Amino acid sequence: MMHWSLARQSSWVQLAGHQGNFQLSKGGEVLKLYSEVEAKCLDCLMRDPLRPFVPQYHGLVTRGESCYIRLEDLLSGLRKPVIMDCKMGVRTYQEEELIKSRTKATLRSDMYQKMVKIDPSAPSAEEHAQNGVTKWRYLQWRDSTSSTSTLGFRIEGIMMEDTSVQRDFRKIQTLGQVTEALLYFTGGQLETLRAYHSRLLALSDALKNSPFFRTHEVIGSSLLFVHDHSKASVWMIDFGKTTPLADGRELRHNVPWVEGSREDGYLIGLTSLITSLSQAISV
Ligand code: ATP
Ligand code: MG
Ligand code: MG
Repeated sequence: MMHWSLARQSSWVQLAGHQGNFQLSKGGEVLKLYSEVEAKCLDCLMRDPLRPFVPQYHGLVTRGESCYIRLEDLLSGLRKPVIMDCKMGVRTYQEEELIKSRTKATLRSDMYQKMVKIDPSAPSAEEHAQNGVTKWRYLQWRDSTSSTSTLGFRIEGIMMEDTSVQRDFRKIQTLGQVTEALLYFTGGQLETLRAYHSRLLALSDALKNSPFFRTHEVIGSSLLFVHDHSKASVWMIDFGKTTPLADGRELRHNVPWVEGSREDGYLIGLTSLITSLSQAISV
């Protein structure tokens, strides 16, 4: 019999983030590089109505020089999982990042390169000549060129059953294109689409009753969709940029962002996804 960790190793997939941030672990867990912001969120989420929608958090562990967050492996028990990472919200940068990057007008050639790779015509003549863009320009461009600004989420990547990974959904702009992507992702399987739909409706209810959600700005967090031939589920992951509001302030999450409001538009994205799933079901 193959050892459990080896069996899992071959199916561990990471659709986003830096490869070095994760380590495999035994016993149905994954280890994610520690961040204080994320650990605080997970701690709070374990005592919130959102708990059933978040990977279970088992505290911290040290491996070598680094500290890690112990998380439930959401792929555990699935056979040939199909996975989709949707980054939620109408923006994927924090207001602080914008303020910092605005005052610092350093030209970034790495961001220029990323921009050119996605759309060679995106940089202005001046930016082409400089071989660089400011971080501010890049952050805003990235959100406006994808469905983030308009639909309140974007598909970061999809891994199909044959383990092929696709990341070319970032230029999706319309709900119709999202529906097409969902049909592709699920192979048009009605049962899978319905399971995702009802899970998102349940999430929507839980969010309404969540003190955590009311009091946090949720930026760069994803909904991870996972299914195989017998199960389908959706999970909230990635709280590295999710921060509490000060002074008892609360967010609505369903209104567009204006600078200073800290609104994240998370529910705009959730509504888009639910609408698109309904469309896919009725195709
Ligand atoms: P980024 O901020 O760039 O999005 P990150 O380093 O914060 O990345 P995550 O977004 O938390 O990392 O996770 C990256 C990927 O790893 C996810 O898209 C998913 O494929 C996988 N992943 C994360 N957490 C889990 C988990 N608990 N179980 C299974 N897979 C996971
Ligand atoms: Mg992420
Ligand atoms: Mg992250």
